[in-house]
Amino acid sequence: MKKILIIGTGGTIASAPSEVGLVPALTSEQLLEHIPSVAAFCKVDCMQIFTLDSTNIRPGHWLLIADEIRSCYDRYDGFVITHGTDTMAYTAAGLSYLIQNSAKPIVITGAQRPINEDGTDAKRNLTDALIYACDEGSHGVSLVFFGSVICGTRARKNYSKSFMAFGSVNFPELARIQDGHVIRYVPEQVSGAPMFYDYMDPNVGLIKLTPGLNDDVMQYAIEKYDGLVIESFGVGGLPEYSDFHVHIRRAVDRGKLIVMTTQVPNEGSDLSVYRVGRTLKSNLSVLEAYDMTSEAVLTKLMWILGKTNDFETAKALFYRPVAHDILCV
Ligand code: ASP
Repeated sequence: MKKILIIGTGGTIASAPSEVGLVPALTSEQLLEHIPSVAAFCKVDCMQIFTLDSTNIRPGHWLLIADEIRSCYDRYDGFVITHGTDTMAYTAAGLSYLIQNSAKPIVITGAQRPINEDGTDAKRNLTDALIYACDEGSHGVSLVFFGSVICGTRARKNYSKSFMAFGSVNFPELARIQDGHVIRYVPEQVSGAPMFYDYMDPNVGLIKLTPGLNDDVMQYAIEKYDGLVIESFGVGGLPEYSDFHVHIRRAVDRGKLIVMTTQVPNEGSDLSVYRVGRTLKSNLSVLEAYDMTSEAVLTKLMWILGKTNDFETAKALFYRPVAHDILCV
């Protein structure tokens, strides 16, 4: 029988009502009490690493989770992390860079309604996550929600209330869990040892272009952060009516990383199409996200800037695929 560690972090799944709204309260052990039938197919240990609404989760918390998994990696066949849905896609992406090439599955799940509530989705999601973590073909970081199994670098929260909260962006679902069975769409093989990283540069930000975005705001963001993701319009471009180009040139000369991506939900960027985008890479050394999600771009920059400040090394790392994060370089 497979041995799985559940790592509790809080979130709606573990929340209870209070006078000021839902607050995470239950431990992973208390969550497990709600799904006694899983004892038929796995042996579970529980630990609680922190108890937070995921709105309060920061990059340092991803490092804590990765470090916990590293320290007990040899003792378990797989890991299930219970987590709030609001920043779950960021945690899934962040962990995909902090723990690479893991033959053992690291599965993140949560719920839109607390496990104590009638009609909750929590029991199904937690049971599905354990089923997926016990399957021989499961590897690496993934997110399990409402029957979907999504690669950790491709998840996006698409619905704020519905049970089918998450989708896979620019990449197929890895699998589905149906009637207790794993139906796998993307078979995976992992060989060699896992790679754990223990540092990220948290000083990376994201700014969304809006028509007429204030020049001072862009300048401040570029100066403040070591790396900045710019969510542009359509396939990508930078307005020509402002000093954005000057600010970016200055920042890149000082060793900062700037990545252009798109705020359009699907199909990614292509800076080569329009004059507003074409010269950004050649003239300004801007990097391009292509089909990557913003969550993956942000956390990949944190991982890269935690390793190097050399532009050419950073550029090579950025375009090197990690855990299916980029296809269209
Ligand atoms: N605010 C909650 C959280 O992210 C929402 C949820 O878990 O669904 O922790």
